Amino acid sequence: MEFVRRVLSMRVCVSALVCLCVLASAGRVLHAQNGSAPAVQAAQPAQAAATAEQPKQAYSLPPEKLAKSIRLSHIRNLLNITSSLWDIIFLWLLLRLRVWAALEAWVLCVTGKKWVQGLLYFAAFIVITGVASLPFAIAGQYESRAYGISVQSWMSWWGDAGKSLAVSLAIGAPVLLLFHWIVKRWPRRYWLGAWIVSLPLMLLSIFISPLVIDPLFNKFEPLTAHHAALVDKLETVVSRTGIDIPPSRMFLMKASEKYNGLNAYVTGIGSSKRYVMWDTATDRLADDEVLFIFGHESGHYVLGHIPKMIAGTVVMLFFLFWCCALAVAWMVRRFGPRWGVAALEARAGFVVLLLAINIAGFVLQPLSNGISRYYEHQADVYGQEAMHGIVADPQRTAVSAFNHLGEAWLEDPNPSPLIEFWLYNHPSVQSRAQFALGYDPWANGGHGEFFSH
Ligand SMILES: [Zn+2]
Repeated sequence: MEFVRRVLSMRVCVSALVCLCVLASAGRVLHAQNGSAPAVQAAQPAQAAATAEQPKQAYSLPPEKLAKSIRLSHIRNLLNITSSLWDIIFLWLLLRLRVWAALEAWVLCVTGKKWVQGLLYFAAFIVITGVASLPFAIAGQYESRAYGISVQSWMSWWGDAGKSLAVSLAIGAPVLLLFHWIVKRWPRRYWLGAWIVSLPLMLLSIFISPLVIDPLFNKFEPLTAHHAALVDKLETVVSRTGIDIPPSRMFLMKASEKYNGLNAYVTGIGSSKRYVMWDTATDRLADDEVLFIFGHESGHYVLGHIPKMIAGTVVMLFFLFWCCALAVAWMVRRFGPRWGVAALEARAGFVVLLLAINIAGFVLQPLSNGISRYYEHQADVYGQEAMHGIVADPQRTAVSAFNHLGEAWLEDPNPSPLIEFWLYNHPSVQSRAQFALGYDPWANGGHGEFFSH
């Protein structure tokens, strides 16, 4: 679900950081789920009568919220798809209008130092593409506020947008400069060089993100400082899973300053690895449900989802860079004269490469989301098994958590299968809740997939 919110929130840097974003996608592996808001299972006689002939769904919303969730999901999906397509069209349009070529001519006039020219060029590129995607971000925030998902003031939101742009400039411009240098240095085999430097860059971005980037946008405090009793309960899950997550690696994010939704996630790598719980979740969920979410996140740790996603991304990038290099060579030959792009080694030629990567990223979205959904399902299974013997009724707890989660984010209970296939990096709340409802491997003396008891 994180997918939608990412698109709806600021995405100033996305186009500019195409490469790094592909890399960083491995780092944002694991957003969780939860729920808030009361009374999911409360009796709703009128609704029950109206839907008497329909099978009961594990995740349901009262009629008013259901209508809102359907409207909101249409808006989210539309924004998601159109903004991705717009990123591609915009890059192409400015190539067609020779804007990227003109920008190159301009930086040549400004300074004689090549690396300064490069930094200027890519900084301008980041600002231009960031501004181009701003209307989608504004529309997303507007709708988010209108539907009560976001409680962030516009002033605060613009502040975050400014910080996001600054981060994009500080990181994105040098990274793009590095990749462009590789293209110039090895014009025939640059895709291999770009792939080789991708791995350390990816690891670095995953490592520093929770330490440097995330605190720029949200406040994080030790979970024990606010919820010592809850941490004690979490320790019971920790000891059942056998993983090494000391309380010092558990953080509380002050999400309530910006969101009404609920979430939790694990992030980082090595010494920056951590577990983060939104305060909206700890404040509004029953402790048992928090234990389930913690179990889900623990599943990501235990099952090695971060290293697996990194490994998968590395393999995917190899073919992606290779295919894009072939496509770009053809594009420059075919359209270069029309776009004012003399060669791939030119900075405007590098934009052609970014365009190709953007297109590939869009086309590959269902693949990466499909892999992500698989890991999320595994973590759901793990979470439910992890709290077995600790909470009274794991099935009921998980279903309740999913209902709270879905209600807080106004998730559509019946999304289109095509939309789920293409855009969802988590299974739909409905399918997660449905699975949780029927998952009871301990019946008749059996045991789960990941635990022997
Ligand atoms: Zn997850």
